[in-house]
This record gives sequence, C-alpha cells and structure tokens, in this order.
Amino acid sequence: MSAGATPRLPAGYHSPQLDVAVRLNTNESPEPPPAAYTEELAAAVAGLHDLNRYPDREALALRRALGERHGVGPEQVWCANGSNEVLQSLLVAYGGPAREVLVFEPTYALHGHIARLTRCDLVVRPRDGDLLVPAAELERLEAAAEAGSFPAVTFLCSPNNPTGRSEPRPAVERLLRAAGRAGGLLIVDEAYGQFGSWSAVELVRAPAPGAATPVVVRTFSKAWAIAGLRLGYAIAAPEVVEALAAASLPYHLDAFKQLAGRLALQHAGEMAARVERIVAARAVLVAGLAELAVEVWPTDANFVLFRPTGRDGHAVWQGLVERSVLVRELTGWPSLEGCLRVTAGTPEECRRFLEALAEVLG
Ligand SMILES: *Cc1c(COP(=O)(O)O)cnc(C)c1O
Repeated sequence: MSAGATPRLPAGYHSPQLDVAVRLNTNESPEPPPAAYTEELAAAVAGLHDLNRYPDREALALRRALGERHGVGPEQVWCANGSNEVLQSLLVAYGGPAREVLVFEPTYALHGHIARLTRCDLVVRPRDGDLLVPAAELERLEAAAEAGSFPAVTFLCSPNNPTGRSEPRPAVERLLRAAGRAGGLLIVDEAYGQFGSWSAVELVRAPAPGAATPVVVRTFSKAWAIAGLRLGYAIAAPEVVEALAAASLPYHLDAFKQLAGRLALQHAGEMAARVERIVAARAVLVAGLAELAVEVWPTDANFVLFRPTGRDGHAVWQGLVERSVLVRELTGWPSLEGCLRVTAGTPEECRRFLEALAEVLG
C-alpha cells in the first residue's frame, strides 16, 4: 500500500431515517426529558462562565454521581460521548490485530463493526433457537479456558438488541468464571438495562471468587431520554477504567455534557416513572401483536421483535412506511429473515402502529 492510500474500512453503520409521523425504529424514548430538567439545564449553562478553560479531564463529579447511583466508587466509572464511544475505547485498549473478539449474532451490529475498525480478529458465533448464547458455546468456552485460551474480548448484549431477550445470569456467571481462569474481558452492553430483570452491575460490585469482573456499558440515550446529548458510561474494575482513560483522547468529554449528565441523575425518579410507562406501552404492543398473524419474541427491552407470518417482511415494512409508520427492518439479517423490530412509543404511537400493521396484513 502506498503512503496515503485510502484505508479499506468496513461500510459505515447507519439506521435509515425517513420523514414519517410515527418513528419507532431507533429505540429512543418516545418522551422528551422532563421540562424541569431542560429548564435547570438552561439555567446551569448560563452559569458556565469559564469556557475558555478545558473541562475537568477526569469528569470526576459526573463519575462520582454515577458511582453513587450504582454503588461503586468513581474509580470504577468511565464516561464518554455515547456508549458507542465507550465500546470503541474498550477495543482500542483491549483489541487490535491478532486479538480475538467474540460476538453472538444476531446482536448489536456496532460491536462487530468497531471490532473490524480496530482490526481485531472478529469471531461470530450464532445464537440458539431462543436467540440466547447457546449452551454448547458456554461449554466450548469453558473447555478453551481450561486449556488456557479465551477471546481477548467477548461481547454480550443484555437485553439483546435487536432480539429483546436478557442473557440469564447463570450463563453470564459461567462466562465470567471461564474468563477469570484464562484472562479475557467480558463486556455486557446494557443499553436497555432499565427495562430488564437483572443487571450485571451486581457482578461488578461483588465478583465471585476467581471470576472476572464484567465491564457493564450503559447509556443515557434510551431510558434517560437524552440521546441527543451523546453520553454513555462503563462500570468496571478500576484497572479497566485506567485502561479506558489511557485509550481516550484528553478532554474528550466537554463541560456541557458533564453538567447535563449530573443534572439528569437528579431526575432519576422521573426516569423510573418513564420506564414504567414504556413497559406498559410494550405490553400493549405485545398484546396487540398477539392478535395478528405475526410471530413475536419475548422481550425485556423497549422494543419488540416480530415476523409477519407467510408475508414478505420488506413489503410489510414498506406498507407501514406508506402509512407513515417507521419500524426497523431486519429482513436481511441471518436467522432474522423476514423480521421487523418496533420500539415502544407513546400510547398513541403504539395504537397507530398496530392499526397500520393490521391494515397491511389485511
Ligand atoms: C442504542 C444502543 C446503544 C446506545 O449507544 P449510544 O452511543 O450510547 O447512543 C448502545 N448499545 C446498544 C446495544 C444499543 O442498542
């Protein structure tokens, strides 16, 4: 390759956006953050007088507040511009050429995408019929660990996007014991953690003897309803946080964002109430879908995976778009042929989606 030749990179990640009335394709919160939050934020921004200075490089106040929320110290918290940036920094620190990164598909496409960008050896294994990590995979990894080898990085996504299921805690514990034996990082992406039934943060606070400590990655983009602000974080062992600090650019987290995150945490009660409303909307979606000719998967997230029975998934997606309803099309994904994913929206959005779908399915 000549100096300056364009590097060959994987195609960029994107989720198509169309101008429609009902947008249920990217799993954001259907509600904006509370007015009290945006007002406090505006007032606080007016008080940011020292913008000539770099922000706190360590984002210590924000990390301390997040640590208090999760029952860990600030040395176990790392923040970045969206959880995607946390994932990227993790692979800058722990991935690279000749380092194996393991993902179980179908799962969040960014995990594999960032692994390719950082030139890791990406290993893709299929999920089982329930779309969970197969028992045979757990056994294979345990045997590998016994022989002293283990992927440098293993990604779990729980609840998993785009399928919706949480990984059972015993499976995660088995992987952590294997990783503890052979060395290896286990990342649990909990972008939808607030909608799920358990959190691997418990295993960061109290790792089992001999087991590895997971890296749990969370975001303000979904349950916290501030996707526009781009803020995410990891809860991990202190040495992982040190590695993340070393792999991040200096002053990567601006003063505004540090402030916005700290203020958001003071509205945790409203966040929990919003999660309850979204879970209720999800139940409406699940009940409505059960009445239609579709296959539906159980979900612990703020979205539902479904497959129109005997119908072309793309045609159904198109029919919804024609009725101004946008959902996520997954029809081309291995083992999700013909599937669509719908985000739990407001009650009105859910009603319009179900009506449109009933019409399309005729
Ligand atoms: C939406 C989502 C994220 C969020 O990424 P941000 O960069 O924090 O907005 C992370 N992981 C998964 C699995 C997601 O679905």
